[in-house]
Amino acid sequence: MSGMESISTPKRTKEIIQRYGFSFKKSLGQNFLIDQNILDKIVEAAELDKAGGALEIGPGIGALTERLAMAAGAVTAVEIDRRLIPILRDVLSPYPHVKVRNDDVLNVDLKALFADDFASVDKVSVVANLPYYVTTPILMKLLEEKLPLDNIVVMIQKEVAERMAASPGGKEYGSLSIAVQYYSEPELVCIVPRTVFIPQPNVESAVIRLKVREHPPVEVADEKHFFEVVQASFTQRRKTIANNLKARYFAEEGRERLEALLAEAGIEPTRRGETLSLAEYAKLSDVLLAAGIV
Ligand code: SAM
Repeated sequence: MSGMESISTPKRTKEIIQRYGFSFKKSLGQNFLIDQNILDKIVEAAELDKAGGALEIGPGIGALTERLAMAAGAVTAVEIDRRLIPILRDVLSPYPHVKVRNDDVLNVDLKALFADDFASVDKVSVVANLPYYVTTPILMKLLEEKLPLDNIVVMIQKEVAERMAASPGGKEYGSLSIAVQYYSEPELVCIVPRTVFIPQPNVESAVIRLKVREHPPVEVADEKHFFEVVQASFTQRRKTIANNLKARYFAEEGRERLEALLAEAGIEPTRRGETLSLAEYAKLSDVLLAAGIV
């Protein structure tokens, strides 16, 4: 770090903010990390090395980016806020293998970005302290596009992390758990208090690691239908699976046909959506598809 203090120390963060006259935008989820231990934990969880790359979403003033630059061979950081770009270029100038892009990550063609920025590395991790207002769309985009990703290590709202990692049977388990677990193996790394950010967010946070799967844990005939059946099964959490499916697919077909198909899938009609495993949803959606229902 050429003898310089880290960007992320409270002192240097304040200095940078003052020097550039930066003001935080709450609407962009701007809560910057100022805790060295947490930054180290995030980077460690991503298991980076110089032969690999890191994609950061929302670098802010570069607190985490600098750590990634030290650990990875190629780093790309996508930041939506134009005001941060000159700051980033300045504070990250000691790291020529860091590329800063000014864009909304939701509009970025990630396949093209990977081809341009990560052609020379053998694996890529996404590492970020995410803006909480768009956590789910960002993570689903990363997972659904089936990018050549090794893992995703992100700071997110604690409740969302718990939902992503939840097992069947609990009240946190829902369509988000199933979607995330279809594409990855989630693991909670640590719970993080509000005090490690400036300004402090209104919620507690957690670091979660998603080890991206090479193949889904269950085989389904049609992914789109699988996720649709999962969504339908959680429409009203307190209703049984039979009642949720009836409302969505069996208005005309009738209850008897629904119960016959549930029996074929090996699922009791009185169960609730939150008790079904991924394998059971896979079976159910295949049965409904084969019967021409979905
Ligand atoms: N990485 C920095 C840190 O840890 O100190 C900042 C994290 S802050 C929680 C989230 C960052 O994401 C902000 O810099 C914000 O401007 C940026 N951001 C918000 N929405 C974004 C989007 N759609 N695409 C890219 N960056 C975004």
